[in-house]
Amino acid sequence: MSLIVQKYGGTSVGTVERIQEVAKKLIKFQKEGHELVVVLSAMSGETNRLLALANELNDNPHGRELDVLLSTGEQVTIALLCLALEQQGIHAISYTGSQVKILTDNTHNKARIMEIDDEKIRKELDAGHIVIVAGFQGCDQEGNITTLGRGGSDTTAVALAAALKADECQIYTDVDGVYTTDPRVVSEARRLDHITFEEMLEMASLGAKVLQIRSVEFASKYNVPLRVLSSFTEGGGTLISVEDPKMEQALISGIAFNRDEAKLTVLGVPDHPGIAYQILGPIAKNNIEVDMIIQNTGHDGLTDFTFTIHRNDYKNARTILQSTADSLGAREVIGDEHIAKISVVGVGMRSHAGIASTMFESLAKESINISMISTSEIKISVVIDEKYLELGVRSLHKAFHLEQN
Ligand code: ASP
Ligand code: MG
Repeated sequence: MSLIVQKYGGTSVGTVERIQEVAKKLIKFQKEGHELVVVLSAMSGETNRLLALANELNDNPHGRELDVLLSTGEQVTIALLCLALEQQGIHAISYTGSQVKILTDNTHNKARIMEIDDEKIRKELDAGHIVIVAGFQGCDQEGNITTLGRGGSDTTAVALAAALKADECQIYTDVDGVYTTDPRVVSEARRLDHITFEEMLEMASLGAKVLQIRSVEFASKYNVPLRVLSSFTEGGGTLISVEDPKMEQALISGIAFNRDEAKLTVLGVPDHPGIAYQILGPIAKNNIEVDMIIQNTGHDGLTDFTFTIHRNDYKNARTILQSTADSLGAREVIGDEHIAKISVVGVGMRSHAGIASTMFESLAKESINISMISTSEIKISVVIDEKYLELGVRSLHKAFHLEQN
């Protein structure tokens, strides 16, 4: 008998009919001999609805009371699913995060799971019951309700799977897996049967928003096999797990992209020790996250320094950078709000040369200018003009034959 933790997202439990569908599935899985722990999100739109209510009464709703409010969405769905199962004569029991209990730190609205007490769950499983747990929530040492950040139900599921040493953690959602790239951009994009944790982390942080990134980090840390599947269509989904040395790896697993970037350059800054710190220090102090950083080789005692940030931070960062540039006596600050980043990702890159040149050749053939390049062990990223994003992604998808199995 295998123990499976399953998570159903908001659209999968968005209506009474859909909750009934989930109940049917669970009955089927149970008949097949699986022990089931099920984590639910709130009904789709519910967390946003609650947030909007809070915003009507408070300019900046946050902290303890927001968590008390937001955690209610999941409490509704877990009870409804249990009632649906009960109606079919199946024993199920629901638990909120604090009942389980899922112990977190006290960072309200963005809490981290520290410990899970699995005793109650085990008892119920041993009695043959299905256990339904509210996602996205826990409680701190003092018993205050906490929530884990938007999309946090994925992390609840993975954390439970790790604590229970489940055989697999299955995330049921409205897409049927992880794709080689966004199918809305490349119609030939293909569902991947398997992707490694590392690759998924690179893909996710670059905008392939299928799972909460933290859940993938968690799964990787505790080596929980994670599978993304559709609630609505049949299929094996995508398994996210450790690299299997016995399996031949594709060179490139996918192409991620991100159009929310902007870049800033300081031209003609004095090339001496401490310059990077003086430029980026004030940016970091203002909590602006920096992505790519490039400093040119100095010439005549001067250098140019470029970095990218989220587009929303552009105006703020530009103002900060201008004042740094003035105090350093730099020549000029220039910027571009209309850039995009494309990355090819694959563990196969480690053992193969020539990936970068294939990438650059393909972009050159489309006359797409590359303005920045950065590489890691399993990823090559380029910054280009936003206008050419779709064209670039399509040409790379073809160049690496990602449409083929
Ligand atoms: N209901 C929460 C949200 O919408 C948590 C989740 O669905 O994972 O972010
Ligand atoms: Mg979600």
